[in-house]
Amino acid sequence: MKRGLILVAALPLLLGAAGDVPELILPIACKLGVSCAVQNYVDVDPSPGVKDFHCGQRTYDKHGGTDIRLQSMAQQKSGVAVLAAATGTVLRVRDGVPDISVKERGQASVDNAECGNGVVIAHAGGLETQYCHMAKGSISVKPGQKVAAGAPIGKVGLSGNTEYPHLHITVRKDGARADPFALGAKPGQCDGGRNIWAASSGLNTGYQGGQVLNAGFATGPVTMAMAMERGESQEPRPSRSGPALVAFVQSIGLQQGDVQRLSVTAPGGAGFAENRAQPLDRDKAQTILFAGKKRPAAGWPAGRYVAHYSVERGGRTVIDRRFAITL
Ligand SMILES: [Zn+2]
Repeated sequence: MKRGLILVAALPLLLGAAGDVPELILPIACKLGVSCAVQNYVDVDPSPGVKDFHCGQRTYDKHGGTDIRLQSMAQQKSGVAVLAAATGTVLRVRDGVPDISVKERGQASVDNAECGNGVVIAHAGGLETQYCHMAKGSISVKPGQKVAAGAPIGKVGLSGNTEYPHLHITVRKDGARADPFALGAKPGQCDGGRNIWAASSGLNTGYQGGQVLNAGFATGPVTMAMAMERGESQEPRPSRSGPALVAFVQSIGLQQGDVQRLSVTAPGGAGFAENRAQPLDRDKAQTILFAGKKRPAAGWPAGRYVAHYSVERGGRTVIDRRFAITL
């Protein structure tokens, strides 16, 4: 009896070790949780409702891939490489679609070209990866070309059905859409299947239930559009003569009921500004919070200003971040 149990338990491990499909590396040249973040997972719910592989809501209806988002357009313009997620052969390529937000071009402009500039790669085990929204003119591979895992294939852009710079990667297994966080899960099933991301990707464990995308100081209130354009490097940089000193945090994936708090202390540790937001009335794909003050007549005291941002969810702190500026 005991031996039987061991055999049953070992069987899935043996199948996994047979290497039916390759592990996937992080397909973008950024540091997850630092200079990029998962914005959306696959919607595993076939109904009009939404559910990600973790039974959470970090997706939208019919979303068929994983979105890895950059911090800002400034970062995108500096050129962030898209990488082959595994060794394989390039099947298809599309280039020539302009890098213009769908908000400007209109939804009709992306009909049948939602992916924008993209690449499809075939891998072992019937696995296929597709990379979308790449920069016009950046695709550096051709159909039939063999690529190694991690090889650059182009750059992150703003083409197709997108309004912020990100890489959308779709995975298919034997021609059918699959979730790399839950390969083999039944339709509608969350917390099932097998995660095929490599340990090095940062995606094989841990679920991003909300995180900071940008945090910094500015000389006035920061809008979502400003954060998207410049990220953490808001210009002009605050100075002792600046009109105001404002700490800001742009977060993604927060949930209904989350309580955000942002406080700033002046040099010496005295309270300087605080913003304790109302509990969120609904899930937020992205949100921005700031706390600050106008310049006093005598100017800003020199020294170090420290901001502390936290998010409480169900009585537990799920985000805790400090950042500082010296004036
Ligand atoms: Zn997407």
